[in-house]
Amino acid sequence: MLILISDAFDDALPGKLAKFGDVTDDKGRLAEAEIVLIRSKTKVTPEYVDSAPKLKMVIRGGVGLDNVDIPYANSKGIAVHNTADASSVAVAELAFALMIAMPNNVTRADSTMREKEWAKKQLKRTELLGKTLGILGLGRIGSALASRAKAFGMNVIAYDPYVYFSDFAQMKSDLDEVLAESDYISMHMPLLDSTKGLINKDRIAKMKDGAFIVNTGRGKTVVEADIAEALKSGKLGGFGNDVWYSDPPDWDATPLFDAPNCVFAPHIGASTKENMGRIGQMVEGLISAYAASK
Ligand code: NAD
Repeated sequence: MLILISDAFDDALPGKLAKFGDVTDDKGRLAEAEIVLIRSKTKVTPEYVDSAPKLKMVIRGGVGLDNVDIPYANSKGIAVHNTADASSVAVAELAFALMIAMPNNVTRADSTMREKEWAKKQLKRTELLGKTLGILGLGRIGSALASRAKAFGMNVIAYDPYVYFSDFAQMKSDLDEVLAESDYISMHMPLLDSTKGLINKDRIAKMKDGAFIVNTGRGKTVVEADIAEALKSGKLGGFGNDVWYSDPPDWDATPLFDAPNCVFAPHIGASTKENMGRIGQMVEGLISAYAASK
């Protein structure tokens, strides 16, 4: 069997998979591939599926499956898996890093020092202790963030239409209530019809003045132009963002690059060394089970 590694995985993975068959990263061999390993870059569209007649399994290293047309793949007898449990700590730690970087002016402190500017008086800081964090989407990653925020003495509330109880967050059934009470909003929802553009100018208007938003979920769950406008007007205090309308974003058309008080990352939420190892182990397990079932 041919295993095609189509996106970036742990360097050790090809060696570990060699016992199951041939392993390649040559995308030109898609037509021969029985298993394809992807992350977020490869888009498994109907055209992609149609050009892979031998394909039996797609494994998405990571969580979000919005780059895979699952119904179409399934209709062609192709199983689709992800490695959902692996990435929670990695993404939660990045969300926390973005959240703590903003009120501490970490990036501005660094850039002013490099410009030989002593901004000690200008760089005011605020603390997370006692602030309210509102988490949108209290699944694996949201819960991992909630437990960390609790340890920092934050008051944690959450909105998730499918979660009614949490050890770490007070659940609210009304999204607007979470928006109105939170000093920080952290977004951990999948991209669905119901979450697309969820944070727009109407919902931003319901937030506290000077609130901070962190998005490590999916870029299209916010309206970037509305966030940029709210940052410029001072309605929002800051925006920490790892996820974009596309990877990479449209550098010229993305309105966020002109907006103040942002901390950006290039979709690296899952990219810890430890997580790459965990993803590799889960991929190996899935392929082992598939090989045994043949
Ligand atoms: P999860 O499925 O465990 O949690 C998602 C939660 O969102 C669920 O509890 C679900 O009920 C909730 N939800 C669904 N619709 C909602 C809505 N309208 N409003 C509020 N909540 C809603 O998934 P997870 O492992 O926690 O991952 C969450 C998301 O994080 C993924 O879907 C993916 O888009 C994103 N992610 C990003 C990175 C990154 O690199 N930045 C890495 C992994 C995952």
